[in-house]
Amino acid sequence: MELSIRNIAAWLMSNFYIITGKINNVKKSAKNGEILFSVYFHNPSKKLFEGCVKWFLKNGFSIISTEELNSIIRNNKPIPASSVVFTVDDGWKENKENIVAVADCYKIPVTIFVTTSPVETGESYWWSYIQKAFDKKLTNHSVGALKLVPNEQRMQELERIKPNVPNDRDALTIEEVKTISQSPYISIGSHTVTHPILTMCNDEKSQHEIVESKKTLENWTNKPVQFFAFPNGNYTQREINVLKSNGFQMAFTTKPEYVTLNSFKSPFEIPRFDVLEDVSFAENIIRMTGVWFEKRNNK
Ligand SMILES: [Zn+2]
Repeated sequence: MELSIRNIAAWLMSNFYIITGKINNVKKSAKNGEILFSVYFHNPSKKLFEGCVKWFLKNGFSIISTEELNSIIRNNKPIPASSVVFTVDDGWKENKENIVAVADCYKIPVTIFVTTSPVETGESYWWSYIQKAFDKKLTNHSVGALKLVPNEQRMQELERIKPNVPNDRDALTIEEVKTISQSPYISIGSHTVTHPILTMCNDEKSQHEIVESKKTLENWTNKPVQFFAFPNGNYTQREINVLKSNGFQMAFTTKPEYVTLNSFKSPFEIPRFDVLEDVSFAENIIRMTGVWFEKRNNK
C-alpha cells in the first residue's frame, strides 16, 4: 500500500467500521440470505487475492460460481446464505499465478472476463499505451479523457502514439487462456475484443465487440461463453439487447451494490464491489462487504 494521506485516512476509517461492528451487520444480512456479495478484481497480487479468499472462508462464506448464480436466478431460488461471487476483469498475464493457482489450491470458483485482442496480438491494453504516452508528454489526452470521446477519436489517438511507445504484453497468451479454462474452478467470460467504452461505439462496432469476443473465446476454450462484463462498467439497453440475442445469460456491471432479489430481475446488470490493488487490506474488507459504498450510496 502506498502511504498516502488518502490511504491512511481510509485505513483509519475502515478500522473504525470494523471495530464498531458495521461489518458484522452486513455479514448478518448475508447469513440471512438478504444479500449476496459480488466482488471483482483486475490484477491483484497473490497475497491480496489469497488474503481475500481467506477472509471470506474464515468468516464462514461460500464462494459460489457465476454458473451457480445464474442457475439460482433462472430457477427463482432464494439467495444462498453467506455467499460471495468472485470475478476478474481483463485477463492480465499475472492472473495465472496470482488467481488461477490460488483458486485451484483453495478449490474455489472464479470467473475471468477476457479481452481477446490483447491476448491474440500480445499488444498492451489501450490504456497502458495511453498512460505511457501521457507520462512521456506524447499526448495531451489522459486515459480518463479518452473514455469520454467517440470511439473513432480514441482509436485515432491510440494509433498516433503507438509507434512512439514501447509495447509490453499485459494479457495472458492464447495457450494460457486454453490451459486455465481447463481448470474445474475457472470459468472464462467475455470482456469484448478491444475493451472500448461500448457506449462510445456505433451500433455495428458495439455488436462486433460483444459477438466476436464470444466466438473467439468459445473457439479457444471449446466451452460455451455465457457471461459478460461491461468494460469500464459502461452500457445501455442496446448492449443488453445484443447480449440477450447472442446467447449470453448474465452480465456484470461495476455498480457498487449488493446482489439482492431485486438484482435477480435484471440478470444483465449484476452489480459488483471492486477490490483495489494499492490500498490497505482493511479498506478492501470494507469495499468487498459493501460498507464502503453503503455510506456513499446513502448520501
Ligand atoms: Zn476491464
